[in-house]
Amino acid sequence: MNTWTKEDIREVYNKPLLELLYQAATVHRKHNDPREVQISKLVSIKTDGCPEDCGYCPQAARYHTDINGNSLMSVEEVKGHAQEAKDMGSSRVCMGAAWRNVKDDADFDQVLEMVKSVNQMDMEVCCTLGMLTENQARRLADAGLYAYNHNLDTSEEYYKEVISTRGYEDRLQTIENARKADLTVCSGGIIGLGEKDEDRISMLYTYSLMRPQPESVPINALVAVEGTPLEEQNPVPIWDMIRMIATTRIVLEHSAVRLSAGRTEMSDEGQALCFMAGANSIFAGDKLLTTPNPEFNNDLALFNKLGLVPMKAYKKGDKPKINEAYKESPESKEKIKWSRPEHKIERNEAAKQKGKKVRKVTSVKEL
Ligand code: SF4
Repeated sequence: MNTWTKEDIREVYNKPLLELLYQAATVHRKHNDPREVQISKLVSIKTDGCPEDCGYCPQAARYHTDINGNSLMSVEEVKGHAQEAKDMGSSRVCMGAAWRNVKDDADFDQVLEMVKSVNQMDMEVCCTLGMLTENQARRLADAGLYAYNHNLDTSEEYYKEVISTRGYEDRLQTIENARKADLTVCSGGIIGLGEKDEDRISMLYTYSLMRPQPESVPINALVAVEGTPLEEQNPVPIWDMIRMIATTRIVLEHSAVRLSAGRTEMSDEGQALCFMAGANSIFAGDKLLTTPNPEFNNDLALFNKLGLVPMKAYKKGDKPKINEAYKESPESKEKIKWSRPEHKIERNEAAKQKGKKVRKVTSVKEL
């Protein structure tokens, strides 16, 4: 495994685009079958009402967006979504809940049952549930979880310009907790948050230092949603996305690179170049948690045009065995010390105040 310095990564990132693309495609072919792309299905098992203030997220309760929230889905509903996705060629299901952190309660017990059910359908199961203790990570692993997703989003330096309700170290701690339970890690970033190239480089540098490095690295382009503090961000140019995917492929050569949010804004040709640059996974389905995503059929048509085939489950790892111990919730001695940073972000505060006003007007109308 290569040891990268920030300068090395900067040099790769700044290469002339076609040269970068060629190098990334070469690295990609060394470790992967370039025709195979994993189709993953993202299911929002609990939408909206999150207490955090991530500046890009329409599910943060403090902003005023048009998201329809729901309470936790039933296990049967999740199985239905998983089966539908599997029938379309999907081999991985990622279940997302808009929580700050996991709590040892009945909702978590229900998520554990979802994990077990999808594992039994022979699909890779990933969860993204917020911050997580080691004990909770172990219970998820026992229920058959394959991967835990927790994105660093951006560089440590820029992170505090986007999120003020928790610190970067909490993210790193959760990733470590997942690792201690032998879960594979899915962790990536979002570009278009207003960060500089240097922040993208710095985030990749952080991932490059991890041992092991994340098995899966989603690269998202911001989908600017009205009502969030980042609603006025300009769309990410496709060339930035290709550059970021290619650099990720070269720096994290063993990881699956996931072309994630923002695909509705990308042409088929743009996506083709992302696959060329080493992306070997997409999320399919008309919604990505709450933001629009291409229809399954459009993706399959694109696969046909490009000669791509859906990747089978567990290509890079064994299917986790289920250990019924997941049902027990042993008295945890873990002290949970998630941070509550003091600082505030002006634009997050402004969006919160605006949301409050809109809610007030709505309630007067309702009277
Ligand atoms: S990104 Fe996750 S943690 Fe942040 S506000 Fe949205 S749901 Fe909450």
